[in-house]
Amino acid sequence: MDMERGIRIAIASGKGGTGKTTLSVNLAAWLRVQAGREVVLADLDVEEPNSGLFLEGRLTDRREVFRRIPRWNKDTCILSGECAAVCMYNAIAFTGSSVMVFPELCHGCYACSDLCPSGSLPMVEDRIGEITAYGVELEDGNEFMRVEGRLDIGREMATPMIQETIGYTTGLAGPEQMILFDAPPGTSCPMMEAAKHADLVLLVAEPTLFGRHDLSLAVETLRVLEKEVAVVINKDRPGETIIDDYCSKEHVPIAGRIPHLTEAARQYSKGSLLFGKVPQVDRALKEVAGFLEGRIFKTSPA
Ligand code: SF4
Ligand code: SF4
Repeated sequence: MDMERGIRIAIASGKGGTGKTTLSVNLAAWLRVQAGREVVLADLDVEEPNSGLFLEGRLTDRREVFRRIPRWNKDTCILSGECAAVCMYNAIAFTGSSVMVFPELCHGCYACSDLCPSGSLPMVEDRIGEITAYGVELEDGNEFMRVEGRLDIGREMATPMIQETIGYTTGLAGPEQMILFDAPPGTSCPMMEAAKHADLVLLVAEPTLFGRHDLSLAVETLRVLEKEVAVVINKDRPGETIIDDYCSKEHVPIAGRIPHLTEAARQYSKGSLLFGKVPQVDRALKEVAGFLEGRIFKTSPA
C-alpha cells in the first residue's frame, strides 16, 4: 500500500440491494465517531447514487464533469473518410456524404481530430454529469465529507464518471484520511474501476443461494485485479452457513456480520443511519472496523 496517500477501502457487492450502501454510510459514521478517523465517503454508484438518502449534508462544492469528443463541421469536410478509418472504437460512421459521431462509443483519443486533413473534427466539451461534495454532520457534532458522482440521465459513461469522482476525492483527501468508496454493484467495468483504486475490497453478501452465486462472481472478478478481498455478511441469521462455507472453501476472510433485524429494516425504511440506533449493528460495525484495523490500519502512519 502507498502510505503517502492514505487508506482506501471499496465496499462492493455482486448485485444491488445487498446492503452495500447501508454498510458504507454506517461504517463511515462509526469510523468517524468511534475510531476518530478522518473519513471521506465517495459514492461511486454514479448511475444511482443513494448514500445521500441516509446522510444529509451541507453542500460544499459542485462541479460539472466534461469529456472531449469530436464535432463534425460539414462546411469544411472534404469527405475523405479518414476519420472513420482511424477510429478504433467504431465511434464514427462515414456514409460517403456525411460523418456521424457516436458519443457513447468515443474514447476521446483525438485520432480522428488530429488526422482529419481539413480540420473538420474539432474536439469539444461534452457534459456527462456532476460531482458534489457535502459536509455531513453527525448527531454528536462530528463531521465527515461525502462526495457524490452523478451521471446525467441517459448518459452511458459510468467508468469515466467514476474516474473523475475518484480523482476529485483523492485530490481532497490527505494521507491522514481514509476513503471509503461506495462502489457500483455488479462485476462489470464500473465496479472494477472502483476496486482498482482500493487497498482492500469489502464484498457485502446475503446468506442465500443467489447471494453466494453473486459473491462468487465478484470474488473471481476481483482476483483478476489481485485485490485483497473480505466479506461482510448482511442479514446474517444463526445457523445459516452458506456464505461461511463458500468463504472457507475459497479462503476469503469474513470481516463481519450484520444481523437480520426488524429494527434495522425499520430504521432503513425511514432513511436513518443504523449506527447509534441499533446496538447489534454497532457491534457488527465494530467487528468490521476491527478487521480493517488488523489488515490495514496497523500499517498506517496515523
Ligand atoms: S477525416 Fe475530416 S475531412 Fe475526412 S471525412 Fe472525416 S471529417 Fe471529413
Ligand atoms: S476521438 Fe478517438 S475514439 Fe473518439 S471518435 Fe475520434 S478516433 Fe474515435
